Amino acid sequence: MKEILNIALVAHDSRKNELIEWVGYNAELLSKHHLYATGTTGKLIGEIACGTEDEPEYPFTGKVTRLLSGPLGGDQQIGAMIAEGKIDMLIFFCDNLAMQGHQNDVSALSRLASLYNIAFATNRTTADLLLTSTLLGDESYSRIVPECIQQYANRKLK
Ligand code: PGA
Repeated sequence: MKEILNIALVAHDSRKNELIEWVGYNAELLSKHHLYATGTTGKLIGEIACGTEDEPEYPFTGKVTRLLSGPLGGDQQIGAMIAEGKIDMLIFFCDNLAMQGHQNDVSALSRLASLYNIAFATNRTTADLLLTSTLLGDESYSRIVPECIQQYANRKLK
């Protein structure tokens, strides 16, 4: 797995605090990678302050590529980037207790993350395990793109 990853971050409103806390906790590790986020999630990540109260540091200022807000097309933008091989890891803290107005987009994003076999976490424990995996930076390990994708692309139609 390459050393610098493209990591997408998304959280529904009820789980934004959880994601922001996780990103803040892992700021040093995460700031080595390229980060992408849906609009509001990305804005909040940009505001994370580390360091001391007197000398706060904002580790993600200017480092997060903000896409559209999730319900306004941002989830679909990330899905398209996954399909194009531009995202290696997705951290997606979704609301498990409420249907979203953009539930179709949520399902579509989860489906593409699964289909393209990218590293994909929907909760904090899995996100912790992904980010600390010994396979990160191990050049002999690479993501397998499932054969079914090429097979589907080349399927014969009568
Ligand atoms: P947001 O989108 O970061 O713009 O709030 C998250 C989502 O997909 O609901």
